[in-house]
Amino acid sequence: MTEQHYQVAIDGPAASGKSTAARLLAARLGGYYVNTGDMYRAVAWAALKAGVDPVTQPEKVIELLPGWDLRYRVQPGQKQTLQLCLNGQVLQPEEFRTPEVTAVVSQVASIPALREWMLDRQRECDRLGIVIMEGRDIGTVIFPQARFKFFITASPEERARRRFAQRGEVAADATLAAVAAEIAARDHLDSIRAVAPLRPAPDALLVNTDGRTQDEVADWLAAYIREQQ
Ligand code: C5P
Repeated sequence: MTEQHYQVAIDGPAASGKSTAARLLAARLGGYYVNTGDMYRAVAWAALKAGVDPVTQPEKVIELLPGWDLRYRVQPGQKQTLQLCLNGQVLQPEEFRTPEVTAVVSQVASIPALREWMLDRQRECDRLGIVIMEGRDIGTVIFPQARFKFFITASPEERARRRFAQRGEVAADATLAAVAAEIAARDHLDSIRAVAPLRPAPDALLVNTDGRTQDEVADWLAAYIREQQ
């Protein structure tokens, strides 16, 4: 049997359910799940760790880039699972999925030179075979030729409820209203930036996840892909 090789682009606003849908879909298709939001978060985290305020000092973030080797690697002994590594060290999601990183990540992601730097690092994941890549600009910029493109949405209320339930990713004293405001602010910044703004590719299929479980969404996406093959 020849090895399959194709890309599935999954874009959408914050907390729309796209991460879980992409992860479950990758398991169903036997592919690799790549989270590009984590790559931007890793950069924001590393900048903060280096004592740089990425919001007021974007030029300092750019200066740091040549010293960083950021890439996804297959986890040893775990076929189909990737680890995000910075300069050879495996990064743990708890380190960079924090409220402090969330507060600055959209500003970091709006730095054009950083997005340019990310292009090759994200595109090189194509070598893996079946790649389910999730983000904001996968169908529009990273893999405009992807065989499948989905744009995952959910109502603002549902998205705030989902993110609020993800303890650790929101401040311990956060309220539902504060989480909703943070999501709206990030979506706004992601949508208005000059380079690779958040928007559906013209040929993306819009999928609303309101009232559907994560398994239902992944099953639907997997069935759609299998039907087209
Ligand atoms: O997906 P997640 O919400 O973790 O992404 C964090 C941030 O990274 C987004 O709010 C956005 O600013 C940025 N991002 C991006 N392009 C991507 C993925 C994420 O600009 N492809």
